[in-house]
Amino acid sequence: MPLLVMKFGGTSVADIGRIANAALKVQREVDRGYDVIVIVSAMSGRTNELVGWVNETSPLYDAREYDAVVASGENVTAGLMALRLQEMGVPARSWQGWQVPIMTTSAHGAARFVDIPRANIDAKFAEGMKVAVVAGFQGLSAENRITTLGRGGSDTTAVAFAAAFGAERCDIYTDVDGIYTTDPRISAKARKLDKIAFEEMLELASLGAKVLQTRSVELAMRYKVRLRVLSSFEDTDDTSGTLVCDEEEIMESRAVSGVAYSRDEAKMTLVTIEDRPGIAAAIFGPLAEAGVNVDMIVQNISEQNYAGHKGGVTDMTFSCPVDQIKRAEVAMAAARDRGDVAFDSWVVDTDVAKVSVVGIGMRSHAGVAARMFQALASEGINIKVITTSEIKISVLIDRKYMELAVQALHDAFGLDKAA
Ligand code: ADP
Ligand code: ASP
Ligand code: MG
Repeated sequence: MPLLVMKFGGTSVADIGRIANAALKVQREVDRGYDVIVIVSAMSGRTNELVGWVNETSPLYDAREYDAVVASGENVTAGLMALRLQEMGVPARSWQGWQVPIMTTSAHGAARFVDIPRANIDAKFAEGMKVAVVAGFQGLSAENRITTLGRGGSDTTAVAFAAAFGAERCDIYTDVDGIYTTDPRISAKARKLDKIAFEEMLELASLGAKVLQTRSVELAMRYKVRLRVLSSFEDTDDTSGTLVCDEEEIMESRAVSGVAYSRDEAKMTLVTIEDRPGIAAAIFGPLAEAGVNVDMIVQNISEQNYAGHKGGVTDMTFSCPVDQIKRAEVAMAAARDRGDVAFDSWVVDTDVAKVSVVGIGMRSHAGVAARMFQALASEGINIKVITTSEIKISVLIDRKYMELAVQALHDAFGLDKAA
């Protein structure tokens, strides 16, 4: 029997009516002859509420109990979806992660898949079940504890199931009708794409476009899953939405194909550090141990002499998610107290955002950086940090200019018009 994976995000299962609407879409595929694995998110807002309860109860929480609590939102929707399908006469049952069992690493809050054994679900399909409804975002560790995959993780559950079960396609139903040139909630001029290359989507996701979790795109690329994003709020057919596919399937060739943003960034500068071999390791080692996800790094060189030292001095700036900046400060204070690194002071800026332009066409088009910086300059936006890779350029700017920057870059690269 051909098989489809259909994933419904939080707003697509926000209440009983929305679940019924999603179930109709599932029934349609069953009627067309498919076995279906449905992956559900928690009802919208529920995961945030659960996270809030954990923080209120225990600010320095035990990550295993965090996972036990926040995984529960998906359990509710899985059961409700199975019930709704049964009411419609579709043979369906729900599966929590541990029942499959979806085996993951023990990295609580950011677990990765180890194995998805097919036997239990295949046995039920063989008995005539048409739909397996699986709770997204969760799994089980070798220590027999519930794990979660990180925010937005149900996308990754969906792609992993599509790979494990050889699904014809993995359809991600959400509250927008596809992947756009930028977040349609930020720019009214955002344009829906029919197709986007895996590599571009991977960059956009990792730079903040939350329409797909980064890891889901990685898995789809590795296992050649046909991945599609489409709306659960509209009538859809085989041609709806946006297909994430190989570069070769895409005709459009332009320098920049999308703009992404990440709102909640912070920046820390260590001022007047002795400039000697090993200094970067002495800074970024303790940050990594403290669980700080460092993103951009800039080191300035200056020629003055540091008191008592023969070599010169430098300043080191890095960025990380704003909710990790306190941990970064604690780690740097401890490193200085231990005598591992010497610096005069630090400056923290918690009001910054990152804006990025992405495109595989950057490999062959020159002048993208100049155009980007000119567009920001025309709006009077100051750039604080810049990083580049083969197919992206990111800048850190004041958060209050974030939306303006996204719109200006979208215009500057003509993304509102088809190529
Ligand atoms: P779900 O609950 O279905 O998983 P998410 O909120 O996680 O939905 O992701 C969908 C949201 O992603 C959209 O509502 C949109 O605001 C946002 N988004 C960000 N960048 C893009 C983009 N380039 N194209 C489409 N949506 C985007
Ligand atoms: N419910 C989880 C979250 O809000 C997982 C998901 O929706 O993908 O992050
Ligand atoms: Mg999501």
